[in-house]
Amino acid sequence: MPTCQEVAENATEYLEGAMPRRERFAVWAHLRICPNCRNYLRQLMRTVSLTRRAGASDPPPPPQEEDRLVAAMKAARASRSD
Ligand SMILES: [Zn+2]
Repeated sequence: MPTCQEVAENATEYLEGAMPRRERFAVWAHLRICPNCRNYLRQLMRTVSLTRRAGASDPPPPPQEEDRLVAAMKAARASRSD
């Protein structure tokens, strides 16, 4: 079972599904018992979906744009954990 910090560190990968299935299950199991991490994940998801919805009337962003978004999220996360 990952710790709260590990869940926070891997939240982006979890939401992207870019995580090995076993780790993903461990995070999921942690979320089942940890309201704090559930809230954190929910906020992160909302941030991502709001960002995406902001351009709803426009064509979907090119893949590079999504990469940039993920990179920005990772950078924000890295600066937060330091
Ligand atoms: Zn937790």
